[in-house]
Amino acid sequence: MGATAVKRNQQKANQEEATNLLTSTQIVIHEALSKLGFSDEMYELLKEPLRMLTVRMPVRMDDGSIKVFTGYRAQHNDAVGPTKGGVRFHPEVDEEEVKALSMWMSLKCGIVNLPYGGGKGGIICDPRTMSMGELERLSRAYVRAISQIVGPTKDIPAPDVYTNSQIMAWMMDEYSHLREYDSPGFITGKPLVLGGSQGREKATAQGVTICIREAAKQKGLELKGARVIVQGFGNAGSFLAKFMHEAGAKVVGISDAYGALYDRKGLDIDYLLDRRDSFGTVTTLFENTITNEELLEMECDILVPAAISNQITAHNAHAIKAPIVVEAANGPTTLEATKILTDRGILLVPDVLASAGGVTVSYFEWVQNNQGYYWTEEEVNEKLEKVLVQAFNNVHQLSQARSIDMRLAAYMIGARRMAEASKFRGWV
Ligand code: GLU
Repeated sequence: MGATAVKRNQQKANQEEATNLLTSTQIVIHEALSKLGFSDEMYELLKEPLRMLTVRMPVRMDDGSIKVFTGYRAQHNDAVGPTKGGVRFHPEVDEEEVKALSMWMSLKCGIVNLPYGGGKGGIICDPRTMSMGELERLSRAYVRAISQIVGPTKDIPAPDVYTNSQIMAWMMDEYSHLREYDSPGFITGKPLVLGGSQGREKATAQGVTICIREAAKQKGLELKGARVIVQGFGNAGSFLAKFMHEAGAKVVGISDAYGALYDRKGLDIDYLLDRRDSFGTVTTLFENTITNEELLEMECDILVPAAISNQITAHNAHAIKAPIVVEAANGPTTLEATKILTDRGILLVPDVLASAGGVTVSYFEWVQNNQGYYWTEEEVNEKLEKVLVQAFNNVHQLSQARSIDMRLAAYMIGARRMAEASKFRGWV
Protein backbone atom coordinates (compact mmCIF):
# COMPACT_ATOMS: atom_id res chain seq x y z
CA MET A 1 0.00 0.00 0.00
CA GLY A 2 1.45 3.42 -0.98
CA ALA A 3 1.01 6.70 0.86
CA THR A 4 -2.07 7.73 -1.12
CA ALA A 5 -3.64 4.38 -0.46
CA VAL A 6 -2.93 4.86 3.25
CA LYS A 7 -4.75 8.20 3.16
CA ARG A 8 -7.59 6.59 1.28
CA ASN A 9 -7.75 3.85 3.85
CA GLN A 10 -7.68 6.42 6.62
CA GLN A 11 -10.71 8.14 5.07
CA LYS A 12 -12.38 4.80 4.59
CA ALA A 13 -11.59 3.90 8.20
CA ASN A 14 -13.37 7.05 9.30
CA GLN A 15 -16.52 5.98 7.47
CA GLU A 16 -16.55 2.25 8.06
CA GLU A 17 -14.44 1.01 10.91
CA ALA A 18 -11.06 -0.56 10.13
CA THR A 19 -11.00 -3.81 12.06
CA ASN A 20 -8.30 -5.26 9.81
CA LEU A 21 -5.25 -5.37 12.05
CA LEU A 22 -2.69 -4.95 9.29
CA THR A 23 -4.46 -1.96 7.74
CA SER A 24 -4.85 -0.19 11.08
CA THR A 25 -1.21 -0.83 11.95
CA GLN A 26 -0.11 0.58 8.60
CA ILE A 27 -2.22 3.70 9.13
CA VAL A 28 -0.58 4.47 12.49
CA ILE A 29 2.95 3.57 11.32
CA HIS A 30 2.48 5.93 8.38
CA GLU A 31 1.32 8.72 10.65
CA ALA A 32 4.17 8.08 13.10
CA LEU A 33 6.83 8.08 10.36
CA SER A 34 5.54 11.28 8.79
CA LYS A 35 5.43 13.02 12.18
CA LEU A 36 9.06 11.92 12.64
CA GLY A 37 9.95 13.36 9.22
CA PHE A 38 10.81 10.06 7.48
CA SER A 39 10.17 9.69 3.77
CA ASP A 40 7.47 7.63 2.07
CA GLU A 41 10.29 5.25 1.06
CA MET A 42 10.79 4.45 4.72
CA TYR A 43 7.10 3.71 5.00
CA GLU A 44 7.36 1.44 1.94
CA LEU A 45 10.07 -0.53 3.76
CA LEU A 46 8.25 -0.78 7.07
CA LYS A 47 4.65 -1.23 5.96
CA GLU A 48 5.00 -5.03 5.78
CA PRO A 49 7.44 -7.68 7.05
CA LEU A 50 10.71 -8.23 5.16
CA ARG A 51 10.06 -11.98 5.17
CA MET A 52 6.95 -14.11 5.45
CA LEU A 53 7.21 -17.88 5.33
CA THR A 54 4.10 -20.04 4.93
CA VAL A 55 4.50 -23.71 5.73
CA ARG A 56 2.22 -26.74 5.48
CA MET A 57 2.92 -29.51 7.97
CA PRO A 58 1.61 -33.07 7.80
CA VAL A 59 1.08 -34.37 11.34
CA ARG A 60 0.06 -37.87 12.43
CA MET A 61 -3.02 -37.62 14.66
CA ASP A 62 -3.78 -40.06 17.49
CA ASP A 63 -6.42 -41.90 15.42
CA GLY A 64 -3.80 -42.73 12.79
CA SER A 65 -4.95 -40.15 10.22
CA ILE A 66 -2.73 -37.42 8.78
CA LYS A 67 -3.78 -33.80 9.14
CA VAL A 68 -2.00 -31.04 7.23
CA PHE A 69 -1.66 -27.85 9.28
CA THR A 70 -0.78 -24.40 7.92
CA GLY A 71 1.66 -22.18 9.80
CA TYR A 72 3.44 -18.86 9.33
CA ARG A 73 6.54 -17.03 10.47
CA ALA A 74 6.83 -13.32 9.76
CA GLN A 75 10.00 -11.28 10.25
CA HIS A 76 9.19 -7.61 10.11
CA ASN A 77 12.50 -5.79 10.22
CA ASP A 78 15.94 -6.94 11.35
CA ALA A 79 17.88 -3.68 11.03
CA VAL A 80 18.26 -3.37 14.82
CA GLY A 81 19.03 -7.03 15.50
CA PRO A 82 17.54 -10.52 15.20
CA THR A 83 13.76 -10.66 15.07
CA LYS A 84 11.81 -11.73 18.14
CA GLY A 85 8.26 -12.69 18.94
CA GLY A 86 5.83 -15.40 19.93
CA VAL A 87 4.09 -18.25 18.16
CA ARG A 88 0.32 -18.56 18.57
CA PHE A 89 -1.74 -21.69 18.11
CA HIS A 90 -5.28 -20.61 17.26
CA PRO A 91 -8.04 -21.57 14.79
CA GLU A 92 -8.34 -17.95 13.62
CA VAL A 93 -4.65 -17.31 12.86
CA ASP A 94 -4.20 -15.85 9.39
CA GLU A 95 -1.41 -14.41 7.33
CA GLU A 96 -2.39 -10.75 7.75
CA GLU A 97 -2.77 -11.10 11.49
CA VAL A 98 0.69 -12.66 11.80
CA LYS A 99 2.14 -9.83 9.70
CA ALA A 100 0.51 -7.19 11.91
CA LEU A 101 1.65 -8.99 15.05
CA SER A 102 5.25 -9.05 13.80
CA MET A 103 5.07 -5.29 13.22
CA TRP A 104 3.79 -4.75 16.75
CA MET A 105 6.73 -6.78 18.02
CA SER A 106 9.13 -4.40 16.23
CA LEU A 107 7.34 -1.49 17.89
CA LYS A 108 7.40 -3.15 21.33
CA CYS A 109 11.12 -3.88 21.07
CA GLY A 110 11.72 -0.27 20.03
CA ILE A 111 9.65 1.13 22.91
CA VAL A 112 11.48 -0.89 25.58
CA ASN A 113 14.78 -0.50 23.73
CA LEU A 114 15.72 -4.15 23.14
CA PRO A 115 18.33 -5.03 20.48
CA TYR A 116 15.72 -6.84 18.35
CA GLY A 117 13.34 -6.35 15.48
CA GLY A 118 9.89 -7.91 15.46
CA GLY A 119 8.84 -11.38 14.40
CA LYS A 120 5.75 -13.51 14.92
CA GLY A 121 4.52 -16.98 14.13
CA GLY A 122 1.24 -18.77 14.11
CA ILE A 123 -0.33 -22.12 13.35
CA ILE A 124 -3.98 -22.57 12.39
CA CYS A 125 -5.12 -25.19 14.90
CA ASP A 126 -7.24 -25.57 18.01
CA PRO A 127 -5.02 -26.86 20.84
CA ARG A 128 -8.09 -27.24 23.08
CA THR A 129 -9.13 -30.22 20.95
CA MET A 130 -5.65 -31.78 20.54
CA SER A 131 -3.84 -34.33 22.70
CA MET A 132 -0.38 -33.69 24.17
CA GLY A 133 1.10 -36.11 21.62
CA GLU A 134 -0.51 -34.28 18.71
CA LEU A 135 0.63 -30.92 20.06
CA GLU A 136 4.18 -32.21 20.46
CA ARG A 137 4.30 -33.56 16.89
CA LEU A 138 2.89 -30.29 15.54
CA SER A 139 5.36 -28.16 17.54
CA ARG A 140 8.31 -30.23 16.29
CA ALA A 141 7.02 -30.17 12.69
CA TYR A 142 6.78 -26.38 12.85
CA VAL A 143 10.41 -26.01 13.97
CA ARG A 144 11.59 -28.32 11.16
CA ALA A 145 9.53 -26.33 8.66
CA ILE A 146 10.87 -22.89 9.66
CA SER A 147 14.38 -23.94 10.79
CA GLN A 148 16.17 -22.24 7.89
CA ILE A 149 15.07 -18.75 8.88
CA VAL A 150 15.21 -18.97 12.70
CA GLY A 151 17.99 -19.29 15.29
CA PRO A 152 19.47 -17.54 18.35
CA THR A 153 21.05 -14.81 16.18
CA LYS A 154 18.35 -14.70 13.49
CA ASP A 155 14.84 -14.95 14.88
CA ILE A 156 13.88 -16.08 18.39
CA PRO A 157 10.34 -17.42 19.00
CA ALA A 158 8.43 -17.39 22.33
CA PRO A 159 4.98 -18.22 23.73
CA ASP A 160 1.82 -16.39 22.68
CA VAL A 161 -1.91 -17.24 22.64
CA TYR A 162 -2.44 -20.93 23.57
CA THR A 163 1.27 -21.82 23.62
CA ASN A 164 3.26 -22.39 26.80
CA SER A 165 6.59 -23.45 28.30
CA GLN A 166 6.03 -27.13 27.41
CA ILE A 167 5.60 -26.23 23.74
CA MET A 168 8.73 -24.05 23.94
CA ALA A 169 10.60 -27.02 25.45
CA TRP A 170 9.63 -29.33 22.53
CA MET A 171 10.57 -26.64 20.03
CA MET A 172 13.95 -26.03 21.68
CA ASP A 173 14.64 -29.77 21.77
CA GLU A 174 13.77 -30.16 18.08
CA TYR A 175 15.97 -27.22 17.12
CA SER A 176 18.87 -28.54 19.21
CA HIS A 177 18.54 -31.93 17.46
CA LEU A 178 18.59 -30.31 14.04
CA ARG A 179 21.70 -28.23 14.84
CA GLU A 180 23.33 -31.04 16.83
CA TYR A 181 24.17 -28.81 19.79
CA ASP A 182 22.17 -27.57 22.76
CA SER A 183 20.55 -24.27 21.76
CA PRO A 184 18.62 -22.75 24.68
CA GLY A 185 18.91 -19.28 23.11
CA PHE A 186 16.80 -20.38 20.14
CA ILE A 187 13.54 -19.77 21.99
CA THR A 188 12.34 -18.03 25.17
CA GLY A 189 9.58 -18.81 27.65
CA LYS A 190 11.16 -22.19 28.39
CA PRO A 191 10.75 -24.14 31.66
CA LEU A 192 13.32 -23.05 34.27
CA VAL A 193 15.26 -26.34 34.10
CA LEU A 194 15.82 -25.85 30.36
CA GLY A 195 17.23 -22.34 30.65
CA GLY A 196 14.03 -20.41 31.23
CA SER A 197 14.22 -17.18 33.20
CA GLN A 198 12.85 -16.49 36.63
CA GLY A 199 9.88 -14.17 36.28
CA ARG A 200 9.19 -14.88 32.58
CA GLU A 201 5.82 -16.52 33.11
CA LYS A 202 4.49 -13.55 35.05
CA ALA A 203 6.33 -10.93 33.00
CA THR A 204 3.52 -9.73 30.73
CA ALA A 205 1.23 -9.22 33.73
CA GLN A 206 4.07 -7.52 35.67
CA GLY A 207 4.53 -5.08 32.80
CA VAL A 208 0.80 -4.38 32.63
CA THR A 209 0.76 -3.86 36.42
CA ILE A 210 3.57 -1.28 36.15
CA CYS A 211 1.66 0.54 33.38
CA ILE A 212 -1.56 0.49 35.43
CA ARG A 213 0.29 1.94 38.42
CA GLU A 214 1.87 4.70 36.32
CA ALA A 215 -1.42 5.47 34.55
CA ALA A 216 -3.25 5.62 37.90
CA LYS A 217 -0.63 8.12 39.14
CA GLN A 218 -1.29 10.31 36.10
CA LYS A 219 -5.03 10.23 36.79
CA GLY A 220 -4.61 10.73 40.54
CA LEU A 221 -6.28 7.38 41.20
CA GLU A 222 -5.40 5.31 44.25
CA LEU A 223 -4.80 1.67 43.26
CA LYS A 224 -5.90 0.43 46.65
CA GLY A 225 -9.63 -0.05 46.45
CA ALA A 226 -9.80 0.73 42.71
CA ARG A 227 -12.31 -1.40 40.78
CA VAL A 228 -10.63 -3.42 38.03
CA ILE A 229 -12.11 -5.45 35.17
CA VAL A 230 -9.85 -7.90 33.36
CA GLN A 231 -11.19 -9.34 30.10
CA GLY A 232 -9.44 -12.68 29.49
CA PHE A 233 -8.07 -15.18 31.99
CA GLY A 234 -5.12 -16.58 30.06
CA ASN A 235 -1.47 -16.05 31.02
CA ALA A 236 -1.64 -12.23 31.12
CA GLY A 237 -5.20 -11.91 32.46
CA SER A 238 -4.95 -14.44 35.28
CA PHE A 239 -1.63 -13.20 36.67
CA LEU A 240 -2.85 -9.64 36.34
CA ALA A 241 -6.02 -10.36 38.33
CA LYS A 242 -3.77 -11.88 41.01
CA PHE A 243 -1.40 -8.89 41.09
CA MET A 244 -4.27 -6.39 41.22
CA HIS A 245 -5.86 -8.35 44.04
CA GLU A 246 -2.54 -8.43 45.92
CA ALA A 247 -2.11 -4.67 45.39
CA GLY A 248 -5.38 -4.10 47.23
CA ALA A 249 -7.47 -3.31 44.15
CA LYS A 250 -10.95 -4.83 43.86
CA VAL A 251 -11.20 -7.14 40.86
CA VAL A 252 -14.90 -6.81 40.00
CA GLY A 253 -14.91 -8.56 36.64
CA ILE A 254 -13.09 -11.28 34.73
CA SER A 255 -13.89 -13.33 31.64
CA ASP A 256 -12.81 -16.18 29.40
CA ALA A 257 -13.77 -17.27 25.89
CA TYR A 258 -17.16 -18.53 27.12
CA GLY A 259 -18.48 -15.69 29.28
CA ALA A 260 -17.79 -13.24 32.08
CA LEU A 261 -18.28 -12.80 35.82
CA TYR A 262 -19.02 -9.48 37.49
CA ASP A 263 -19.52 -8.69 41.15
CA ARG A 264 -19.31 -5.09 42.31
CA LYS A 265 -18.27 -6.28 45.79
CA GLY A 266 -15.20 -7.97 44.25
CA LEU A 267 -14.60 -11.52 43.01
CA ASP A 268 -12.87 -14.32 44.90
CA ILE A 269 -9.73 -14.26 42.80
CA ASP A 270 -7.89 -17.02 44.67
CA TYR A 271 -10.82 -19.38 44.08
CA LEU A 272 -11.05 -18.49 40.39
CA LEU A 273 -7.29 -18.95 39.90
CA ASP A 274 -7.49 -22.30 41.58
CA ARG A 275 -10.35 -23.50 39.36
CA ARG A 276 -9.19 -22.20 35.94
CA ASP A 277 -7.97 -24.79 33.45
CA SER A 278 -4.76 -24.52 31.43
CA PHE A 279 -6.57 -22.58 28.67
CA GLY A 280 -7.87 -20.04 31.16
CA THR A 281 -11.45 -21.34 31.25
CA VAL A 282 -13.36 -20.85 34.50
CA THR A 283 -16.73 -19.18 33.81
CA THR A 284 -18.29 -22.47 32.65
CA LEU A 285 -18.44 -23.42 36.35
CA PHE A 286 -20.92 -20.62 37.08
CA GLU A 287 -24.56 -19.99 36.22
CA ASN A 288 -24.80 -16.23 36.66
CA THR A 289 -22.51 -15.19 33.83
CA ILE A 290 -22.73 -12.20 31.52
CA THR A 291 -21.20 -11.84 28.07
CA ASN A 292 -17.76 -10.48 27.27
CA GLU A 293 -19.46 -7.55 25.50
CA GLU A 294 -21.50 -6.72 28.60
CA LEU A 295 -18.44 -6.96 30.84
CA LEU A 296 -16.59 -4.23 28.95
CA GLU A 297 -19.40 -1.76 29.67
CA MET A 298 -19.69 -2.44 33.41
CA GLU A 299 -18.74 0.11 36.07
CA CYS A 300 -15.03 0.13 36.97
CA ASP A 301 -12.00 2.41 37.36
CA ILE A 302 -9.53 0.39 35.30
CA LEU A 303 -10.43 -1.77 32.32
CA VAL A 304 -7.87 -4.25 31.00
CA PRO A 305 -8.66 -6.06 27.75
CA ALA A 306 -6.36 -9.07 28.01
CA ALA A 307 -7.96 -11.42 25.50
CA ILE A 308 -8.22 -10.98 21.75
CA SER A 309 -8.29 -8.19 19.16
CA ASN A 310 -11.10 -5.78 18.16
CA GLN A 311 -12.98 -5.84 21.46
CA ILE A 312 -13.45 -2.09 21.92
CA THR A 313 -14.88 -0.70 18.71
CA ALA A 314 -16.90 2.31 17.51
CA HIS A 315 -19.99 0.41 18.66
CA ASN A 316 -19.11 0.19 22.36
CA ALA A 317 -16.40 2.85 22.93
CA HIS A 318 -19.05 5.39 23.98
CA ALA A 319 -20.31 3.00 26.65
CA ILE A 320 -16.96 2.28 28.34
CA LYS A 321 -17.13 3.58 31.93
CA ALA A 322 -13.48 3.21 32.98
CA PRO A 323 -11.33 6.38 33.04
CA ILE A 324 -8.25 4.18 32.40
CA VAL A 325 -7.96 1.45 29.77
CA VAL A 326 -4.74 -0.57 29.65
CA GLU A 327 -4.32 -2.96 26.72
CA ALA A 328 -2.75 -6.25 27.80
CA ALA A 329 -3.90 -8.05 24.63
CA ASN A 330 -2.60 -7.31 21.17
CA GLY A 331 -4.94 -5.02 19.22
CA PRO A 332 -8.03 -4.99 21.48
CA THR A 333 -9.07 -1.45 20.51
CA THR A 334 -9.78 -0.27 16.96
CA LEU A 335 -8.42 3.07 15.73
CA GLU A 336 -11.86 4.62 15.70
CA ALA A 337 -12.45 3.46 19.26
CA THR A 338 -9.03 4.86 20.25
CA LYS A 339 -10.17 8.25 19.01
CA ILE A 340 -13.53 8.04 20.79
CA LEU A 341 -11.91 7.05 24.10
CA THR A 342 -9.23 9.75 23.80
CA ASP A 343 -11.83 12.42 22.98
CA ARG A 344 -13.75 11.31 26.06
CA GLY A 345 -10.65 11.96 28.19
CA ILE A 346 -10.04 8.27 28.88
CA LEU A 347 -6.37 7.42 29.34
CA LEU A 348 -5.61 4.57 26.95
CA VAL A 349 -2.28 2.79 27.45
CA PRO A 350 -1.60 1.01 24.13
CA ASP A 351 -0.74 -2.67 23.69
CA VAL A 352 2.71 -2.06 22.23
CA LEU A 353 3.70 -0.45 25.54
CA ALA A 354 1.50 -2.23 28.11
CA SER A 355 2.22 -5.76 26.92
CA ALA A 356 5.96 -5.27 26.40
CA GLY A 357 6.88 -6.87 29.73
CA GLY A 358 6.80 -10.35 28.18
CA VAL A 359 9.33 -9.66 25.48
CA THR A 360 11.48 -7.67 27.91
CA VAL A 361 11.95 -10.69 30.18
CA SER A 362 12.32 -12.89 27.07
CA TYR A 363 15.28 -10.69 26.23
CA PHE A 364 16.65 -11.22 29.76
CA GLU A 365 16.18 -14.98 29.26
CA TRP A 366 18.12 -14.88 25.98
CA VAL A 367 20.92 -12.81 27.58
CA GLN A 368 21.15 -15.35 30.44
CA ASN A 369 21.23 -18.24 27.91
CA ASN A 370 24.00 -16.52 25.95
CA GLN A 371 26.15 -15.90 29.02
CA GLY A 372 25.21 -19.11 30.87
CA TYR A 373 24.73 -17.18 34.10
CA TYR A 374 21.31 -16.94 35.69
CA TRP A 375 19.66 -14.17 37.71
CA THR A 376 17.29 -14.29 40.68
CA GLU A 377 13.63 -13.34 40.34
CA GLU A 378 14.36 -10.11 42.28
CA GLU A 379 17.08 -9.17 39.80
CA VAL A 380 14.78 -9.83 36.86
CA ASN A 381 11.87 -7.88 38.36
CA GLU A 382 14.08 -4.95 39.28
CA LYS A 383 15.40 -4.72 35.72
CA LEU A 384 11.89 -5.08 34.26
CA GLU A 385 10.58 -2.33 36.53
CA LYS A 386 13.28 0.11 35.36
CA VAL A 387 12.69 -0.63 31.68
CA LEU A 388 8.90 -0.36 31.82
CA VAL A 389 8.72 2.78 33.98
CA GLN A 390 11.15 4.50 31.61
CA ALA A 391 9.15 3.34 28.56
CA PHE A 392 5.84 4.48 30.07
CA ASN A 393 7.27 7.90 30.89
CA ASN A 394 8.81 8.33 27.44
CA VAL A 395 5.52 7.55 25.73
CA HIS A 396 3.39 9.57 28.13
CA GLN A 397 5.66 12.61 27.92
CA LEU A 398 5.70 12.53 24.13
CA SER A 399 1.92 12.24 24.00
CA GLN A 400 1.60 15.27 26.29
CA ALA A 401 4.23 17.32 24.49
CA ARG A 402 2.72 16.69 21.04
CA SER A 403 -0.93 16.54 22.15
CA ILE A 404 -1.36 13.12 20.60
CA ASP A 405 -2.80 9.90 21.98
CA MET A 406 -0.46 7.42 23.65
CA ARG A 407 -0.83 4.93 20.78
CA LEU A 408 0.60 7.37 18.23
CA ALA A 409 3.31 8.45 20.69
CA ALA A 410 4.25 4.80 21.29
CA TYR A 411 4.39 4.14 17.53
CA MET A 412 6.62 7.19 17.06
CA ILE A 413 9.08 5.93 19.68
CA GLY A 414 8.89 2.34 18.46
CA ALA A 415 9.23 3.18 14.77
CA ARG A 416 12.01 5.72 15.14
CA ARG A 417 14.64 3.20 16.11
CA MET A 418 14.04 0.71 13.32
CA ALA A 419 13.80 3.56 10.81
CA GLU A 420 17.11 5.03 12.00
CA ALA A 421 18.79 1.61 11.97
CA SER A 422 17.48 0.94 8.45
CA LYS A 423 18.84 4.31 7.38
CA PHE A 424 22.31 3.73 8.90
CA ARG A 425 22.46 0.39 7.10
CA GLY A 426 21.77 2.20 3.85
CA TRP A 427 18.52 0.38 3.15
CA VAL A 428 16.58 3.59 2.57
N1 GLU B 1 4.09 -13.19 22.63
C1 GLU B 1 4.54 -12.15 23.49
C2 GLU B 1 4.20 -10.80 22.90
O1 GLU B 1 3.30 -10.67 22.09
C3 GLU B 1 5.98 -12.30 23.91
C4 GLU B 1 6.98 -12.33 22.80
C5 GLU B 1 8.39 -12.70 23.26
O2 GLU B 1 8.56 -12.94 24.43
O3 GLU B 1 9.26 -12.74 22.41
O4 GLU B 1 4.74 -9.79 23.26
